[in-house]
Amino acid sequence: AKDSGRNTFQFFDPSMHAQGMERMQLQHGLAKALEQGEFELHYQTQVELATGRRVGAEALLRWRRADGKLMPPAEFIPVAEQTGLIVPIGAWVLHEACRQAALWQNERQGRPRIAVNLSALQFRQGDIEATVQSALQASGLPPSQLELELTESILIGDPASVLATVTRLKAMGVKLAIDDFGTGYSSLAYLSRFPIDKLKIDRSFLHQLDDASQGAVIVEAIIGLARSLGLRTIAEGVETEAVAARLLQLGCQEAQGYYFARPVPASELFS
Ligand code: C2E
Ligand code: CA
Ligand code: CA
Ligand code: CA
Repeated sequence: AKDSGRNTFQFFDPSMHAQGMERMQLQHGLAKALEQGEFELHYQTQVELATGRRVGAEALLRWRRADGKLMPPAEFIPVAEQTGLIVPIGAWVLHEACRQAALWQNERQGRPRIAVNLSALQFRQGDIEATVQSALQASGLPPSQLELELTESILIGDPASVLATVTRLKAMGVKLAIDDFGTGYSSLAYLSRFPIDKLKIDRSFLHQLDDASQGAVIVEAIIGLARSLGLRTIAEGVETEAVAARLLQLGCQEAQGYYFARPVPASELFS
């Protein structure tokens, strides 16, 4: 009740005026988009570097506007987060991604995992455990086939309650990855406290690998850290064969990026 009081009050916050019409329209549009089914998911393949085998796909949100154009998440997720709409949108993403992945389980051998991005707000305001549970139940997807991509900001936020939530998610059997690893915080203390499975190396570090004669200090350090903690590693944003080869050489297990595949609608993923 205290929170809703504060939210109501926010409506009169003068900073709202500074946001301008465009932002208000976007906010209104987002609520309508959810109601009217204008969101879609595209899927980007994740491969095992040693074999080139597809081991999973990341679900990436898109907004199909009335004019048919696709709006990328960078243009609307910040507003969805500021308004709280990311909670119901994120619930839709989980249900849709699990539904789709369950079809792959039935149709495909190799059973690709599905990776889903979560926002900090889904941890703070939403009942993320119930949402994950209901997405798994409705789809019939085995929990071990779902990987949740968490940002470091989620794990730093409110340690006690977040630790409890993350621990229960882990106990459900889902996999947990840290997205954009290395970009968020200088403290690594949370890594030994949270039951994480995988580190996703941020693409901003991969430029180190463009030139084989150059050092790769950060990438090497992240892979070494993961290995000593018993975590898997995946690199995002791999755009060239040379970078993929270098990652394999350094002991990175999985990769994702334009070199392997762009994000595509589900119907094109296996074509
Ligand atoms: P992210 O989780 O780091 O996702 C990777 C982004 O890199 C995606 O952008 C993807 O299309 C792009 N990408 C993939 N391979 C390459 C490559 O080789 N080179 C380059 N330059 N880029 C590559 P996208 O789809 O525009 O998503 C942007 C961000 O939006 C995501 O970053 C994620 O933080 C957020 N996002 C996307 N879908 C969702 C969602 O369902 N929920 C939440 N909370 N956030 C989402
Ligand atoms: Ca991600
Ligand atoms: Ca990422
Ligand atoms: Ca990133």
